[in-house]
Amino acid sequence: MLAPALTGARFDAVLLRRANLRIPFPAAFEDRLVGQAVTALTRRAKYLLATLTSGETLIVHLGMSGWFRVERAIGPAFEAPPVDGDDDPKHDHVVFRMSNGMLVTFNDPRRFGLMDLAARDGLAAHAALKGLGPEPLSTEFGAAALARACHRKKIPIKVALLDQRVVAGVGNIYASEAQHDARISPKRRASAIATASGAPRPAATALAASIVKVLTRAIERPQARFKVYERDGTPCPRRTCSGTIRRVVQAGRSTFYCPVCQR
Ligand SMILES: [Zn+2]
Repeated sequence: MLAPALTGARFDAVLLRRANLRIPFPAAFEDRLVGQAVTALTRRAKYLLATLTSGETLIVHLGMSGWFRVERAIGPAFEAPPVDGDDDPKHDHVVFRMSNGMLVTFNDPRRFGLMDLAARDGLAAHAALKGLGPEPLSTEFGAAALARACHRKKIPIKVALLDQRVVAGVGNIYASEAQHDARISPKRRASAIATASGAPRPAATALAASIVKVLTRAIERPQARFKVYERDGTPCPRRTCSGTIRRVVQAGRSTFYCPVCQR
């Protein structure tokens, strides 16, 4: 959705309606964007990265409730068609007017999102990006990488999966979904999926494969209902299982699992 509006286009104007989201906008944010074109739009973990002709990269995190609206401007400046339905314009915090006539608006009711700018050669060292684990859908990720990252962790595997240094971009929902798919209890100790030297045990192989499977499926079918997430009290969706989905809290986050087929 964003790529056609941003890639190859220049920032003609930037409207900031507040001084901060989760953190303050960087100094001279508007000046550092206006006149620059976006040469590439990529992603690392949950960060959107827009490469700019200035040599800087625009870093965006959507937080819990942030999203972009893309629409064609109907006049000069930041005039846009009226927003419909439940979109509340009072949460439109940033508007980019692009050289292709598109308005790209960042709306974020809870303001946990962030925007920052970093020099491209300093990007890997940026506080948001340094230390991130492999992308789950990249060739760097697999049973070996997962086992290596977990083999010294005495915490539950579910909690380890949410650690972005272990694997980048698995959140609370798909950690539960992947563990159900792999029949692995979220309470299992992370180190138990690896040998003492960090080699993968079968559980690491199953879990790595399930992470790739559930994420790939979610991208292909974003509206598909979850199998276990927020389904506590309902029968386990595994046809051969008589269990009931249960909810527990681990490290302050809800985990959903089947105590019968997940061991
Ligand atoms: Zn089950």
